[in-house]
Amino acid sequence: MRKKTRLSFSSVSIEAKKENKTPSKPYNSGHSNIEHKNQERKKLTKSSTYQYSKFGKGQNRRSGHTFNSKNQSNNQNENKVPKLEEGKIRIIPLGGVEEVGKNMTAIEIGNDIIVIDAGMHFSNEETPGVDYVIPNTTYLEENKDKIRGLFITHGHLDHIGGVPVVLSRIGNPTVYSRNISVLLMKKRQAEFPHLPAMKTEVVEKDGTVMCGKIKVRFFGVTHTIPDSMGIIIETPHGWIVTPGDYKLDQIDGIVSEEEQKEYSIFDKAKVLLLMTDSTNVENEGFSLPEIKVHQGLENLIKRVNGRIIIAAFSSSITRLTHIIKVAEMLGKKIAIDGRSMKTNIDVAIEANYFKPKKDTIIPIEEVNNYPPNKMVILMTGAQGEEFAALSRAANKSHKKFAIKKGDTIILSASIVPGNERAVQKIKDNLSRQGVKIISFRTPGEDFVHATGHGNKEDIKWLHRKTHPKFFIPIHGNHFMLELHKELAMDLGMSEENVIVPDNGSIIEISEDGQKIVMRKEKAPSAPMMVDGLAVSDIQDVVIRDRQMLAQDGMFVIIALVDQNTGKLKKSPDLISRGFIYLKENQELLRQVRIIIKKGVEDTTVKMNPIDFDHIKNNLGETVSKFLYQKTAKRPLVIPVVLSV
Ligand SMILES: [Zn+2]
Ligand SMILES: [Zn+2]
Repeated sequence: MRKKTRLSFSSVSIEAKKENKTPSKPYNSGHSNIEHKNQERKKLTKSSTYQYSKFGKGQNRRSGHTFNSKNQSNNQNENKVPKLEEGKIRIIPLGGVEEVGKNMTAIEIGNDIIVIDAGMHFSNEETPGVDYVIPNTTYLEENKDKIRGLFITHGHLDHIGGVPVVLSRIGNPTVYSRNISVLLMKKRQAEFPHLPAMKTEVVEKDGTVMCGKIKVRFFGVTHTIPDSMGIIIETPHGWIVTPGDYKLDQIDGIVSEEEQKEYSIFDKAKVLLLMTDSTNVENEGFSLPEIKVHQGLENLIKRVNGRIIIAAFSSSITRLTHIIKVAEMLGKKIAIDGRSMKTNIDVAIEANYFKPKKDTIIPIEEVNNYPPNKMVILMTGAQGEEFAALSRAANKSHKKFAIKKGDTIILSASIVPGNERAVQKIKDNLSRQGVKIISFRTPGEDFVHATGHGNKEDIKWLHRKTHPKFFIPIHGNHFMLELHKELAMDLGMSEENVIVPDNGSIIEISEDGQKIVMRKEKAPSAPMMVDGLAVSDIQDVVIRDRQMLAQDGMFVIIALVDQNTGKLKKSPDLISRGFIYLKENQELLRQVRIIIKKGVEDTTVKMNPIDFDHIKNNLGETVSKFLYQKTAKRPLVIPVVLSV
């Protein structure tokens, strides 16, 4: 019987793991036909990939070095974290201190652990294709039985984004936060129906909670999302304080009375340790107050005659709701476009944070039913995100909405580093359509954006107000944390009282609250990648493959070797993806075929029985080296050797 079987890439790698099996899936690569004479005699050897390395020798990458050697070494020597000794307090920043994002800190006192925030950040060029990354939960998993609660400072993704996955790994403790943050978390949890239900408890900003023997209390802070709160953990030696993300409610450095009142709890308090945000420590002065942005946007909405489109972060709930209120006050309609933005505004309404009139918010499909000067449109996509509403409108692929000449577009957001080119592109596309664009830095215009984080003066004010004994800068890249340390020392703190941590650092306060040290052991800290449904901190090989594929593509060799003679049965099939265009490289392919033939036949001469693994390894190494010499590229080389 003669049967034609065609193999796909995926079935090569899947089937290849099983010895003595013939590929069963129908195949559809269009590049190779493999003809089999006798199914029973066929044997597919294990497939692995090869890449010519800088060290001059191709190697089997499955046993090669790992994706992130730093994290790897962490994981090797950090396993032996000793138990907490009696009387000591342990603080472990598990995320957010080597980056802006994925914030999470654990505090351990006696037999109790409480966890503050469980954020995420989106993947970047270091983790291509991964959905997002979250902090490493290994330490918490190992100490699950001590965890008494997860406390969330506010509803931004760098604080709640990891909650569903983290909870399921650390024993699903109760989550404590204020109303809007809890509602936002519930919306997010609903996207993970396979995970256990979340247990939540809504707290008030002046409330307290007992967690095991630890008393936790809260205070209100100003940020770009309502219901932001700071957290205070009472210890026998004083308070541990973290405000979460905050900026001061102030104008020209005069802090509002309400704000003064919130922070007045520290006037007579003994603050043992302050841990606070370093995001804007490089920025001089106070942060621009949000009220100035509200005024600026209000002026524009009043003044602009045509249609107004405002693109903003969907997380800036305070600002979004203000815009809706202003539009309503001026008798204008509002359309909201962008799923995250709609969700967040729904949450604000559900929480009774504000209550627009019934007919103020209209569907995006109906914007043309109103005169242009009666329409304000809120959109996602101020960062140039490819599929967000504004991008689709800008490149005319939006099904329900079209930009019109005379529209005014306000980009009410800063540009997150890394998004500059995307934002530039969107501005180009928009300006081709005859619109006016007002952005964060358009000179002479009203303010349209302010940061949600305190600048240097806000930070100094907080240090003075809380007058802590010890200090740990958090939320920021290492450089920012060091600057924050300098700032604390300028304010009079001695160097031995400040610890600049890395993710996973184990910091202990001992001697009745007199001493703070960082242990030499570390908690595992390699970021955990959430990739589809998989969560793992050891996807280094997968990630490396994606990086290599992105850079130099792949090259597949399919060779049929006669198991009696060790000779090639026919000229090998070659498949290239993202590496070279086969049609234009016939000469190179001819040489590769010669090398394969020679490689196989030199290896198998006098070999009995034929060792197919050996042929495959040899092919991988020789071909990857040859391709590098000829093209200066390092594609992933996948040799598949079939015996017939
Ligand atoms: Zn925030
Ligand atoms: Zn944050």
